[in-house]
Amino acid sequence: MASWYGARFHPNRKGRTAVQITAETVATFEYKLTKDDGELLDSSEGSEPLVYVHGTGSILPGLETQLEGKAAGDTLQVRLAPEDAYGEHDAGMVHEVERGQLPPDVEVTEGMQFHAESEDGVHILTVLSVEGDTVKMDANHPLAGVALNFDVKVVEVRAATAEELEHGHVHGPGGHEH
Ligand code: ZN
Repeated sequence: MASWYGARFHPNRKGRTAVQITAETVATFEYKLTKDDGELLDSSEGSEPLVYVHGTGSILPGLETQLEGKAAGDTLQVRLAPEDAYGEHDAGMVHEVERGQLPPDVEVTEGMQFHAESEDGVHILTVLSVEGDTVKMDANHPLAGVALNFDVKVVEVRAATAEELEHGHVHGPGGHEH
């Protein structure tokens, strides 16, 4: 057994014991998401902060990596290039379809989105232009080719429960209620 005789004792500095974001922790953060030109894409302001189980790939990997080791109260800015976010824009995924292929009872306008089911799943398509009978549609993710700038403030970090780890998602406020 260790003897404490002659040992030097130091008080723990407050804050040193803050829970850091690591695998198997649940982190809550506020965020603002903008494009390089400052256009606001999304924000937790006015809605709920985001809650996730760290290390499960439930948020963009580039953002998850930067959150590693952070604690409540920490702020960070993360810029993700398109290849680390929703990918580069692929011109091969822009298609022209005939107006007749789309539902007749809706007015098709630029910026409108449809979802289309095909053999390999569901795709979201955005209308780029309507010219006569031809509708040009983009099957790229709406944020393809866009660099994402996250302004993040960590609000809370806690250990995940065994059940949350098993399910791979958060239970309680901001998560699953079951
Ligand atoms: Zn669950």
